[in-house]
Amino acid sequence: MAAEIRPYWRNFIGGEWLDSSDGRSIPIVDPGNGKVISRVACGGAVEIDLAVAAARRCFQERRLQSLTPAARGELMFAIAGELETLADEIAELEIHDNGKTRAAGYNEVKLTQRYLRYYGGMADKLEGRQIPLGDNAVDYTIRMPYGVSAQIVPWNGPLPVGARSIACALVTGNTVVLKSPEDSPLSLFVLAEACERAGVPKGAVNIVCGYGPEAGAALVAHKDIDHIVFTGSVATGKSVLRAAAERVIPCVMELGGKSAAIAYADADLDNAARNIARGILHHAGQICSAASRLVAHRSIVGPLVEKLKAEAARRTVGPGAEGCDMGPVISERQLQRIETLCEVGVTEGATLATGGKRLARDGFFLPPTIFTDVRPDMRVAQEEFFGPVLVVIPFDTPEEAIAIANGTDYGLAAGVFTRDLKLALWTADRLVAGQVYVNDWWVGGVETPFGGTRRSGYGREKGQEALLGYVQTKNVGIKL
Ligand code: NAD
Repeated sequence: MAAEIRPYWRNFIGGEWLDSSDGRSIPIVDPGNGKVISRVACGGAVEIDLAVAAARRCFQERRLQSLTPAARGELMFAIAGELETLADEIAELEIHDNGKTRAAGYNEVKLTQRYLRYYGGMADKLEGRQIPLGDNAVDYTIRMPYGVSAQIVPWNGPLPVGARSIACALVTGNTVVLKSPEDSPLSLFVLAEACERAGVPKGAVNIVCGYGPEAGAALVAHKDIDHIVFTGSVATGKSVLRAAAERVIPCVMELGGKSAAIAYADADLDNAARNIARGILHHAGQICSAASRLVAHRSIVGPLVEKLKAEAARRTVGPGAEGCDMGPVISERQLQRIETLCEVGVTEGATLATGGKRLARDGFFLPPTIFTDVRPDMRVAQEEFFGPVLVVIPFDTPEEAIAIANGTDYGLAAGVFTRDLKLALWTADRLVAGQVYVNDWWVGGVETPFGGTRRSGYGREKGQEALLGYVQTKNVGIKL
């Protein structure tokens, strides 16, 4: 039987579950039918203040730092274990709060557990070094936590995105105030519950839901935070960076993308179509690293687009609760934004090969959409849809393919489809992107570093690299 969705949720601050100080709450809308299914206490500047104070106290009292690294790692394993018993509730929330399919909902739990166990396992492996200075001195380095880490996550994958930042922060001895996304906040409160049950020290993890321009802005401008991890859009990222600059706070920025898959003339077309379709249609395209541009050799555009249309047609579009393959986008606002950009594409002269119009049913559903005859300078080739929309741009030479693929402000992910390994490596070398996939999309995961270049941001999440974003080096020199 499907788990019940609780009607009301509170913020998690200093180990307590608190209502909003002014009594406000945010309605939670199921994107699968447009109905309000729950409410969450709306955090504002007061809640952010309380949460930062709790996190600061926890840090000052060294409640995490006094634990051995191994014990901090054990805490991550314990949270992962608690999530096992909460998996059914989380999967249900992912369907109704977020619009995921049931399989994707359970996958989010597994992925979150993987992050917690991966970073839990690394807790006791992050070491400093000893620097030889001759007979009369001893010198060594320490990896210090920053202090209070302010974390802001978007609505498309709040649980694993939040958990990986929380895990990195806690195993390195930082404490956390996380602003949960107002469009899809609930699974992170279940994570908070798992932290509580696992015995995470009070104040080490604080989760507040509130509106971005209010609670988010209050958090990043707070005088008592030491570090920011932001995942979201470039526009918001810039305002976060402005706030960080005021106090010279280090940031990890995971921003948007317009990632290109280059398909050469010799590509295995079935494999390319399967992976590019998965790359753009998973979670209805609401993934920062979605395969949102196909840059295809002119000789294969026709057959590859036919195969992509067949992939699109194979998918049922509808609510996860009905067992459909592709769910809705998060909100009416987001659906309108995507539809408007689709209209721009038509006006610009691109050909709508399939999709482009919302489904005539309740909820926020756009079917898989493909634009052909797209020129690299069109807005649909430059701007992020953050929806299930693929644009197809033809090329004639490998140099042209590279220029098109690198020809946006972004630089998050990219892909290459070819049977020629030398050409694949030549291409991977020249693509400006944080990660490049060859003959697949999303190779790797928890253990492979992930992040952007250019306007897609900087710093890395996932993999061993991520931990380095949560520590700073202190050098200790001793004169003997
Ligand atoms: P968004 O930037 O609107 O919101 C992201 C978060 O920032 C939300 O929690 C929001 O409440 C908060 N926020 C909004 N205004 C704020 C402000 N003034 N100060 C502080 N916080 C504020 O993004 P979105 O629409 O929720 O998410 C989609 C975007 O996120 C896309 O551009 C997508 O590519 C990007 N994204 C990137 C990654 C990545 O890892 N690179 C992952 C997921 C999503």
